[in-house]
Amino acid sequence: KAFVELKNISKHFKDPHGQGIVKAVDGISFQVKQGELVTLLGPSGCGKTTTLRIIGGFEIQNKGDVLIDGAVVNNLPPNRRPTAMVFQSYALFPHMNVFENVAYGLKIRNFSRAEIRRKVLDILDIVGLTGLENRYPGKLSGGQQQRVALARAIVLEPKLLLLDEPLSNLDAKLREQMRIELKKIQKRVGITSVYVTHDQLEAMTLSDKVVVMNSGKIVQEDTPANIYRFPTNKFVASFIGRANFIEATLVDVQADSVRVKLKNGKEIGVVVIHDNWKIGEKVLVVARPESITLTSVDKGDIVGTIENSIYTGNMVTFEVVSDGSSFEVDMVNPYSSTLPALGEKIGLKFNQ
Ligand code: ADP
Ligand code: MG
Repeated sequence: KAFVELKNISKHFKDPHGQGIVKAVDGISFQVKQGELVTLLGPSGCGKTTTLRIIGGFEIQNKGDVLIDGAVVNNLPPNRRPTAMVFQSYALFPHMNVFENVAYGLKIRNFSRAEIRRKVLDILDIVGLTGLENRYPGKLSGGQQQRVALARAIVLEPKLLLLDEPLSNLDAKLREQMRIELKKIQKRVGITSVYVTHDQLEAMTLSDKVVVMNSGKIVQEDTPANIYRFPTNKFVASFIGRANFIEATLVDVQADSVRVKLKNGKEIGVVVIHDNWKIGEKVLVVARPESITLTSVDKGDIVGTIENSIYTGNMVTFEVVSDGSSFEVDMVNPYSSTLPALGEKIGLKFNQ
């Protein structure tokens, strides 16, 4: 059963530069189950923030309904919704220390001093800020400020936590740590969350479900693994992870395998993007760089020439050109075999 439900939500704005309108959100529907973390993932400008703000009540939709815990909340202002939002900018109070920042929401809700103290210290422990109660935001690192913003939101025990690119102001290494930390905290507190990001890695690591958006519409929604393995269109396949594409003709479809024929007549079993399953139809094969192996010319599904190789420590990525198309092929653990040389002719084998 859905805990949060968006039903056919649309939002348009007056185009600030022209006469027309911008369809920021264009008829989207999705659900979030109790305790789940769902991410809205998509490129900048695709309508993620607008969608999140509509759920929080900071923006009112032109069409559609928002339901939280079974109740339509369309007409409720943000402070009457059972939600808390963590903004990209943190928006901490600079003149209040960590304790006061986190306690603020409880104070205006008239909790007793003892209760406030207990709740704030509990949350600071959960987010790993114990001992920093008296610090002011100006004396905190980016990661610590991020934790304060998070603590301030979850201390109110909202039924729904809304996070808008909360890690985007952190440097790469810290972002990676906080990503893992955030997931642990979310599971520990068990709080239902909607998380907005344009970072596919963040979406993959954190989410129970990913909702991929483009131009105000939902293009796919599924678990991270299914989105990666079975993208339903070219946009999703190339936005999430790296993808090679190759045209083929559909030969056979079984429950767990699809067979296609390549232009050179070879038949392979693979993942394809498809609109329908008509045998004989043209389809686009999606081959992830790690699902292609390099082999001898006679054993390859196709044959190509090594154009380039990029060494990144744990693997080598080869750029192989075949019949005018370029393929990226990852070789993990490149120490175990002799590497092909630039200009060498090589076979590519597609694995499922
Ligand atoms: P995202 O968060 O995915 O980057 P947004 O939801 O912020 O995207 O914006 C979606 C689209 O709506 C963009 O084209 C943006 O310029 C436009 N937009 C957002 N807010 C406003 C506004 N207040 N007025 C006019 N256009 C807006
Ligand atoms: Mg945004």
